[in-house]
Parts: sequence; structure tokens; C-alpha cells
Amino acid sequence: MLKLSKRLQTIADYVTEGSRIADIGSDHAMLPVYLLQSKKCPSGIAGELNEGPYEAARKQAADAGLSSRLSVRQGDGLSVLKPGEADTVTIAGMGGSLMSEILEAGLQAGKLSGVRELVLQPNVGEDIVRRWLYEHSWYLADESIIEEDGKIYEVMRAVLDIDAAELNNKLYNSGFLSFGLNEEKGIAVLFQMGPHLLRKPTPVLHQKWRMELEKQERICQQLAKSELAESERKLHQFRAEMNVTQEVLQCLPTDIPSSN
Ligand code: SAM
Repeated sequence: MLKLSKRLQTIADYVTEGSRIADIGSDHAMLPVYLLQSKKCPSGIAGELNEGPYEAARKQAADAGLSSRLSVRQGDGLSVLKPGEADTVTIAGMGGSLMSEILEAGLQAGKLSGVRELVLQPNVGEDIVRRWLYEHSWYLADESIIEEDGKIYEVMRAVLDIDAAELNNKLYNSGFLSFGLNEEKGIAVLFQMGPHLLRKPTPVLHQKWRMELEKQERICQQLAKSELAESERKLHQFRAEMNVTQEVLQCLPTDIPSSN
């Protein structure tokens, strides 16, 4: 059986047993091959836009003897799916903006019909994905943050739930943070940093935001050298955002588990 990276294993662990999987942007189809080999999923679809990765996915499925149960298809995003073909869609290893575009186009084309679960791992722009889920009444049921080979990844599991709007309203209430933020700022922080991740903070979460703050500090130092009014405006904006991030980090529990 294929051995997955920690990142792909975290995604695989979120997939509900018995679901028909569609992995979009599958590259070498490692994830769906593993899910079928481990018998977690009975069948699957691997979607790929680009020729090289599409051929690699076909080869991976054939080498694993899974060509009859893993359909490898070339196409843009969710266009490779027929409505009702998949229960779970996974999309991993691309930016949150592209991921949200793929979900939006798929939704408009009815390709998410029948899909009950989304497992998503944006490389950047996690806030864009959380906002898309929230605005389209997908309930963000869980999320994880992990470190692997010096990189930090966030993985999200969202489900269709008739009570999604109510559940999300509770989830995105920032009242649990022990310092005052108005509703608009509170929800922006939760989109940015993750409502579950902030409720169960780990050392990796702190590490991620310490690194982000260092990056932003370097940008601020560059902006401070400029005499342009626009740079000054951006500098103020950055500093204000950094202050909020720092305050959030300071109010999180510090006796946190050392796993991950
Ligand atoms: N999902 C795998 C993973 O997480 O290891 C592969 C990630 S790889 C960095 C991103 C893959 O998405 C590439 O193989 C790329 O060709 C594919 N891709 C990019 N845009 C796509 C789109 N609009 N539709 C389908 N696949 C796409």
C-alpha cells in the first residue's frame, strides 16, 4: 500500500469511510489510490487539468491495479464530475483563491450535487476558502494544522448540514477570545486564523503566526523606507493587523499539547 506524506495522510484521515471520492488536482493520484487500497473508499475519480500529472495519475492507478475503480479524468476543476458521482471531494496543494474558484464554478454547474463532504488543503489563502464555505452554507466541521519538512499546512473538513448556517454562526462567534473584537473584526480573525484552530491551539499554530508576523515585520520595514502616502497607509494597515494577531496569540491558552 502507498505510504502517504503526513499532509496527505491528514487529508485521508478526514475522508468519511465508504464515501466515493473525487480528488481534484490529483497530480500523481497518491491520495485516491491510497484511499482505495486501504479500502476506506470503494471507488474514486482523480481529476487533473494538466497533461503530465494526468498521465502520472493514470499510470499510478494502473500500476496499483485500480483502473477499473479509479477513473482518471482530464479537465478543469469539478468539470470532470457528473452530478451525483461523488460523496466526498478533496482538493489539496493549491492556493485558496484557485480552490474557491474551482468550488464556485463547480457549484454553478451543479457538480457539487450529491457531494456531502469537502476536504480541503489550501497552501495559502486559507481565509478565502473558509469565507467561501461560510457564504455557501458548508459547515466547517473540523480543521488541523500540521508541520512537515519545515512547511506548515492547514487541512479543513466541511460538511453539508441543514443546520450549517446556525452551526457556522456559533463557530464564527469570536466571544471565546478573551479580548474584545467587534463582530466584523472577530469574524475576519476567525477566517484568517481558523475557528477550530484557535479553540484548540497547538505549538504549530503559534509557530505559523510567529513566522507570519516576522514576514510582515520585514514588509513594514521596507514600507517605512518609502515616502509615498500609499506606503504609509499600507504600513498603518499592516501594523493594525499585526497588533490584532499578536493580541489573539497572547490570549490563547499556553498549556497546549506538544503533538503535531
Ligand atoms: N493534490 C495533490 C497534492 O496535494 O499532493 C497535488 C497538488 S499539485 C501542487 C496541484 C495540482 O493541481 C497540479 O497537478 C495541477 O496540474 C493541478 N491543477 C491546477 N489547476 C487545476 C484545475 N483548475 N483543475 C484541475 N487540476 C488543477
